Amino acid sequence: MFILSPLPFAKSALEPHISSQTLDFHYGKHHQAYIDNLNKLVAGTVLETVPLEDIIMKTAGSISQVAIFNNAAQVYNHDFFWKSLRPADATLEPSIRLMAALESSFGSFDSFLNEFKAVALGQFGSGWAWLVKDGEVLKIIKTANADTPIAHGLKPLLAIDVWEHAYYLDYQNRRADFVEAILHNLLNWDFAEKNL
Ligand code: FE
Repeated sequence: MFILSPLPFAKSALEPHISSQTLDFHYGKHHQAYIDNLNKLVAGTVLETVPLEDIIMKTAGSISQVAIFNNAAQVYNHDFFWKSLRPADATLEPSIRLMAALESSFGSFDSFLNEFKAVALGQFGSGWAWLVKDGEVLKIIKTANADTPIAHGLKPLLAIDVWEHAYYLDYQNRRADFVEAILHNLLNWDFAEKNL
């Protein structure tokens, strides 16, 4: 039985960039629905007692198990997204080690931010933008719908949810403003560092 992980911050902690009303829906309804759907889909099957990440790996690419994959991956992706964010009033900079890795992979911190934004805006329709580690190199990638880097052998460091449900109440169609607000105010560099 999977349960909704607690948010790592108060529901109002991301304001004014992401409202508590958005979190009421995004965390309380959408994320919860993926949990509920996953529990229903695996009930009474061999996957019932399998850890979340193993369910994702076992069902990735399987046409007959696509519903299980989609819900399991969305649970994982949302857990990862909340951990990728920090409260708006928490001033935090990338560590020296993380900054060195970003500069060596992207040329400069600004190039990293520009690429993250471009990839997040370039995802057509629902999906995700990620900072991932591919061997020793950091890359920005996008995944469509529920797809997730761990299904492709990549280690995620940070995630940005670019499904419309992530920003529509606060930003309507302005995905760029939502992504910029996260890039400049809400990324949890300590979490990224832990994944490095
Ligand atoms: Fe979402």
